[in-house]
Amino acid sequence: MAETNSAATIGVIGGSGFYSFLDDVTEITVETPYGAPSDSLFLGELAGRKVAFLPRHGREHRTPPHRINYRANLWALRSVGVRQVLGPCAVGGLVPEHGPGTLLVPDQLVDRTKSRAQTFFDGEPLPDGSVPNVVHMTFADPYCPAGRSVALGAARGRGWEPVDGGTMVVIEGPRFSTRAESRWHAALGWSVVGMTGHPEAVLARELGLCYTSMALVTDLDAGAEAGEGVSHEEVLRVFGENVDRLREVLFDAVGALPKTADRDCLCTRAHDGWDLGIELP
Ligand SMILES: [Zn+2]
Repeated sequence: MAETNSAATIGVIGGSGFYSFLDDVTEITVETPYGAPSDSLFLGELAGRKVAFLPRHGREHRTPPHRINYRANLWALRSVGVRQVLGPCAVGGLVPEHGPGTLLVPDQLVDRTKSRAQTFFDGEPLPDGSVPNVVHMTFADPYCPAGRSVALGAARGRGWEPVDGGTMVVIEGPRFSTRAESRWHAALGWSVVGMTGHPEAVLARELGLCYTSMALVTDLDAGAEAGEGVSHEEVLRVFGENVDRLREVLFDAVGALPKTADRDCLCTRAHDGWDLGIELP
């Protein structure tokens, strides 16, 4: 799909705080072979780029991380023309150096989720009768290197020294970790813990999309702090304090991402050598 003809070429999966004040937002509903995404897509223009915003938990924040229809979300974004996705998210810091207010752009991911559909290639026929083949994606480097470098540059441009790289472990939730789990995660050298980064990243890769995670630390995880453990109030408070500058960084990053046709990263080669068996939107 040519860039000019697409409804959007860049997708942002995040909360309503990222698009609610944009001028001229168009809301569209998109159906997918996997059901409905978390919410409508909200289309807007930013730095001359067409962007589709998708509230990950729904606009009322009603869908918990383990119930999000990640497949529908990624499929819906691709179906309107999106080829690069920015995924801001709130995480816990596993070590004291990554305290509240830290922005970390991870380069690695560990999946500790339990119950989530995490592939499009599961042998289930699509409504059009096509059947996905068995496909094993290369996922050694789960994030787009070009998108990572754009996100890091955008953060530095706003005076926010980001952490360049680190491992995000994704837990099933919705509960927070026990102290033992948290200390275990830290002892393995992992940096931050979240609940939505998987399977978002791998599903993006399966669709040949660039995916960049931008992890805002809202709290120290249970093993790294001395109080009573993570509370939801604390998470919301720190997120609220940082959402404005995260939005500025995000918007600068949107403007700095390569044009769709100029992408030359490993994400664009995800399907090389594979017969998918299905037509991607
Ligand atoms: Zn890429």
